Amino acid sequence: MSTIFSQIVEGEIPARVVYEDETTFAFLDANPLSPGHTLVIPKDEYERLNDLPDDVATDLYATVQQLVPAVEDAVDADASTVAFNNGEAAGQEVPHVHCHIVPRFDGDDGGPIHAAMGGFADLGDDELDEIAADIESRA
Ligand code: AMP
Repeated sequence: MSTIFSQIVEGEIPARVVYEDETTFAFLDANPLSPGHTLVIPKDEYERLNDLPDDVATDLYATVQQLVPAVEDAVDADASTVAFNNGEAAGQEVPHVHCHIVPRFDGDDGGPIHAAMGGFADLGDDELDEIAADIESRA
């Protein structure tokens, strides 16, 4: 069973397609958070960023980089929030990697991406040192 986004790539489900190349694809979000809200995906199905092969990740980022100014300019936005919900616990609903490009406007009251967490984590210096060392050892 292919994802809804694969069905869009295959033309089985209609979408407002804004970009396509050999490995990546982009279309307007069906439930836009602002005018121009665009999703950028790899054509092949990978559930999370963690699953992307390096070459696909490179292609995906190149398309995001190309589309951010195109999307902003098309709707005369002042800025954009560019984000992945990476995994179910982070709010990912469609199990096919997708980057949200959400145009932002002065005074739109959307807040920064930090607003998604509702507050800061309470972590001491030792915990922060340990976490930083752990990430460094895995990177
Ligand atoms: P996420 O919560 O990060 O998985 O976001 C999934 C996004 O896909 C939501 O913003 C939906 O509005 C969008 N979406 C779901 N189905 C479609 C569709 N058929 N065409 C365009 N966007 C869709």
